[in-house]
Amino acid sequence: MSSVDNDALLRRHGLHVTAQRLAVLRAVTDRSHRTADDIYTVVRAEIGAISVQAVYDALAALTAKGLLRRIQPAGSPARYEDRVGDNHHHLICRTCTRMIDVDCAVGYTPCLTAADDSGYEIDEAEVVYWGRCPSCAATQVQ
Ligand SMILES: [Zn+2]
Ligand SMILES: [Zn+2]
Repeated sequence: MSSVDNDALLRRHGLHVTAQRLAVLRAVTDRSHRTADDIYTVVRAEIGAISVQAVYDALAALTAKGLLRRIQPAGSPARYEDRVGDNHHHLICRTCTRMIDVDCAVGYTPCLTAADDSGYEIDEAEVVYWGRCPSCAATQVQ
């Protein structure tokens, strides 16, 4: 995605276009599931002076407007991705913390159908599968 597209994307979502927001958005678009610390390192290398707080502020604004999705796995830092609006889930390796996407079946999301919804209007289900990735499983000392 070119920076012109990202400019338009921010404006279309009612956000002022700033170098910081553009750099944060680009960092997440380049690689999904980065943590805020990781994004800070990337953005700082790219545009120089930026505070950790400014990165958090940009992430919060982009997430609030629906440009980014925030995933908060239990006991681990939040990750960010630009794949929004679908109901995909995540696999996380307990050993190396690598996170990858898992699709729900297209057009049918059984996890959205709770056994008992207790009268709630459910519109989202967050599923995190924990385990070990193939490379960690392969290098595991028995
Ligand atoms: Zn792993
Ligand atoms: Zn994802």
